[in-house]
Amino acid sequence: MRELIFLEPVVKKLIWGKEYWTVSAHESGDCLVRGGTYDGLHLSQLWSDHKEIFGVETDGDFPFIVKVIDARDPLSIQVHPDNEYASKTENGASGKTECWYVMDCDRDASIIIGHKAESRQEAARMIEEGRWDDLLREIPVKKGDFFQITPGTVHAIKQNTMIMEIQQSSDVTYRLYDYGRVRNGEPRALHVDKSLDVMRIPHTDAGCYTNGVKGRLVSCRYYDVDRYDIAGSRDFEKSDKFMIISVLEGEGGIDGRKIKAGESFIVSGGYGDFTIFGSLSVMVTRLPKLYGGLEAGGTKMVCALGYADGTIEDKISFPTTTPEKSIPRIIEYFKDKEICSLGIGSFGPVDVNPDSESYGNILDSPKLAWQHYPLKKVLEDALCVPIKVDTDVNGSCLGEMTFGCAEGMDNVGYVTIGTGIGAGMAVNGQLVHGMGHPEFGHILVSRIEGDDYKGKCPFHPTCFESLASGPAIEERWGKKAEELSDRPEVWEMEADYIAQGLMAMVLTISPRKIILGGGVMHQQQLFPLIRKKLKEKLAGYIHTRELDDIDDYVVPASLDDEQGIKGAVQLGVLAEIESK
Ligand code: ADP
Ligand code: ZN
Repeated sequence: MRELIFLEPVVKKLIWGKEYWTVSAHESGDCLVRGGTYDGLHLSQLWSDHKEIFGVETDGDFPFIVKVIDARDPLSIQVHPDNEYASKTENGASGKTECWYVMDCDRDASIIIGHKAESRQEAARMIEEGRWDDLLREIPVKKGDFFQITPGTVHAIKQNTMIMEIQQSSDVTYRLYDYGRVRNGEPRALHVDKSLDVMRIPHTDAGCYTNGVKGRLVSCRYYDVDRYDIAGSRDFEKSDKFMIISVLEGEGGIDGRKIKAGESFIVSGGYGDFTIFGSLSVMVTRLPKLYGGLEAGGTKMVCALGYADGTIEDKISFPTTTPEKSIPRIIEYFKDKEICSLGIGSFGPVDVNPDSESYGNILDSPKLAWQHYPLKKVLEDALCVPIKVDTDVNGSCLGEMTFGCAEGMDNVGYVTIGTGIGAGMAVNGQLVHGMGHPEFGHILVSRIEGDDYKGKCPFHPTCFESLASGPAIEERWGKKAEELSDRPEVWEMEADYIAQGLMAMVLTISPRKIILGGGVMHQQQLFPLIRKKLKEKLAGYIHTRELDDIDDYVVPASLDDEQGIKGAVQLGVLAEIESK
């Protein structure tokens, strides 16, 4: 279907200025098609009766609303619920995630994003006492700024600001404060209790994930938004699914139609390659891509579908047995799910070198059934999507670096203490590979005086894994690690070996943060012991801001045990980018 859909904006006059709903099929403002084959139809009709234009099959509502917001006065201070809260509280409605591009504003303009309350009680008190200046976090803005506003983010556009907004098709807004304004003699309704329910407290900025895509403004569960600055002309690749193009600045043309700042239109799915001419900046909104993630662990396989912001849409897991049994289940799960790529974090040793003949093969694994198994090739043949493979620990490290407590850090270590010991590491923002991949579990440690346990590793009697893995603890003390919580001497010794391992890492890759995961680290009492011993062993030799705040330096994984699978999804994102 080759059609450009131009729409008549729905204009809303509001207490503070005007809103132009330029692309909307929402019942509160359903745009009419202007010109072309479908002249005069509502967008909602087009969406329900002519799915072929959009290249998607879904019973759901049209997924986006695009608005231009022209604020003369400040908008009310508001917050949106997430899907779960909205569905429960607002009769099955969806929540609202939105993003803002600042098209124009006064030189000294500002907006409100977030608040300064530390607790719900404190927020409630400040609201009750009307201490808005103490509560609200106001930040300066300028033309070209971009903000992702996730549910729970307190926000408000202020006066003399023009914004292009893309949002989930929903109208659920909780108003926290309206500057005491009245309309037709009445104040507009406030929803303080619901606002307090859904506010993110304390405030944290919403992750604005771009996942390394050039020109991307944001990727999330609801949309991918990219910006293109065009001087002369720019070619766009065809897409099976529709996209919305919004002109942010300047003017130009597409296939004989003139387009100018503030306008948005729909390019049909299957439109084919096209070119935009002129001197302009455009924003392109697309449906988000779905990625596959596989965490191939020694004990279990986790398969998941996810988005580029780390949202896991669906997940299953089953025990790792033999390839004959496990692989068909993996294929069964992913086929027909329309994933655009797959990321795999695998148990090792595994070939992680993309230039190698055996990239993605399991190597000389103690798991005999998997020795030399061509994991990547088999899945690539079955699923026909790009695949990227790394170690499970590098996957977890990447998950924490992209979505977790190590977000944006250059050097990071992720150490797992479980059946084995291994570490994923990043240096200068890149996961460490080299001739193979790091085998951090096998660095040597010094045997503690009085420990006469022979060691678990068949290669190295006194390597880190040999003396400190879960099975080593079990063999040394005659009981499973999880049953030894009440034996301080066990954890005193364990913490010493772990601190020795971490010291080696601190001294080699100089990580900004060390994250500890794996079954053994469920023993929470290990953390303070490890931190103390690491400090003692370093003996004041190095001084850094990070080490000074050791409680925030050696930390547990931050993603509810999803660091591995989220990292695998991110490997999928990278697979897709690299396949271009
Ligand atoms: P794997 O390394 O096989 O992926 P785990 O990370 O769960 O799996 O590690 C398993 C090891 O962790 C076992 O040796 C087990 O005894 C130990 N372990 C599991 N849970 C606990 C716990 N709560 N406390 C201490 N050790 C545990
Ligand atoms: Zn070893």
